[in-house]
Amino acid sequence: MSMFVDQATITVTAGKGGDGAVSFHREKYVAAGGPDGGDGGRGGDVVLVVDDHLSTLLDFKYKKRYNAPNGENGRGKRCFGKSAEKLVIKVPRGTVVRNAETGLVMADMWDDQPVVIARGGRGGWGNSHFASATRQVPNFAKPGMPGQSFQLQLELRLLADVGLVGFPNVGKSTLISVVSHARPKIANYHFTTLEPVLGVVKMDNEKNFIMADIPGLIEGASEGVGLGHEFLRHVDRCRLIVHVVDVSGCEGRDPKEDFEKINYELRNFSAELAERPQIVAANKSDIATPEQIAEFKAYIEEQGLPFFEISAATRQGTDPLIGRVAAMLDQLPPIKRYEVEQTPEEVSPTEKLDWHKFTITVDDDGVYVVEGDWLARTLGMVDPDDYESLQYMQRVLRDSGIFDTLEEMGIQENDTVDILGFEFDYVR
Ligand code: GDP
Ligand code: MG
Repeated sequence: MSMFVDQATITVTAGKGGDGAVSFHREKYVAAGGPDGGDGGRGGDVVLVVDDHLSTLLDFKYKKRYNAPNGENGRGKRCFGKSAEKLVIKVPRGTVVRNAETGLVMADMWDDQPVVIARGGRGGWGNSHFASATRQVPNFAKPGMPGQSFQLQLELRLLADVGLVGFPNVGKSTLISVVSHARPKIANYHFTTLEPVLGVVKMDNEKNFIMADIPGLIEGASEGVGLGHEFLRHVDRCRLIVHVVDVSGCEGRDPKEDFEKINYELRNFSAELAERPQIVAANKSDIATPEQIAEFKAYIEEQGLPFFEISAATRQGTDPLIGRVAAMLDQLPPIKRYEVEQTPEEVSPTEKLDWHKFTITVDDDGVYVVEGDWLARTLGMVDPDDYESLQYMQRVLRDSGIFDTLEEMGIQENDTVDILGFEFDYVR
């Protein structure tokens, strides 16, 4: 028996950008050619997309790591490295994706729009970018950036307008099969519904809606799969609940007790869910006595809930029920969607910089040589010919404390500073 998998944790890693190339143009009659190292290609993104052939997260139980390919390195003659293909991961519709570290929602996969969940690293600039009048021989190229890497929590929260809830064997699957084209397994024993089944209910006025038959409370509990109210996650987004009860009590159950127990679970799961509008469908009325029906009806109407006497098996009373469902949906807010709380751009754990770490040495020529791991990343993109770019570099050097340190070391006006092979005159 397959188990319904609706939660999984996976690790996605986007591709690293290719490194920029250090290369010099060689020509017969030119003594020293210019720098011509090309840029590295972009690393591949990791992209999520909905696939309606999937109805569970089972695949993610077996494969946990997803790596997009790296970008190619740049080459000489200004040859750019090729950017990598994206890695596409297919998920069932309704999958909510959270960053496992922060718990924040990164995507709600409800439509067909692909979502970039981890960005590939930028390719590094080749040394051809660093040619300038002041720096004739740029021996520097920028390394590619690492791709983003996240641990993701996937959780399936079905997208349906209406959710059928109720004890096993009360006739939920039978009901969805007679009002839609969904064909779930129907049998006179428990545990038949182990995967949620969605059905489109077609209305004459074209106001079709989606109904979900959800793995039952007790099915899961008796299998030892969690506490039993796990399945309620799938009702979470529903706009309306149809609470199916066996009014005949043919399995020796009390319909009132069943009704209360399920509502207790709803409340236990979330106050919000307990507030969700509910319609009661008293099923198996074909084998119930008029007294049984009347008693349960009075009990439900006392609570101010709409009551429908039906027999799913014989289709009696299902049209009025469906009519009422459609009319109520017309007045209700749309299916709940999760707001994105954190985009991949907002988290980049791979790019944390240690601002304080740099060393400055004075070489034999009296040049102040500044070194630090983060410098290449931060200043590699600086274009010496671009005013704004230089302003940015000034700011970085000031904020990081490099200028202060240079002053403390006694640097004088017009002394030379070397950062990443980029030499400039110090001016106050
Ligand atoms: P579920 O577990 O809630 O999905 O229930 P099923 O739809 O699988 O139905 C359980 C059993 O009840 C099956 O044997 C059905 O044929 C039977 N059943 C469903 N609806 C009715 C009904 O309206 N009247 C009668 N007599 N039996 C029904
Ligand atoms: Mg069923």
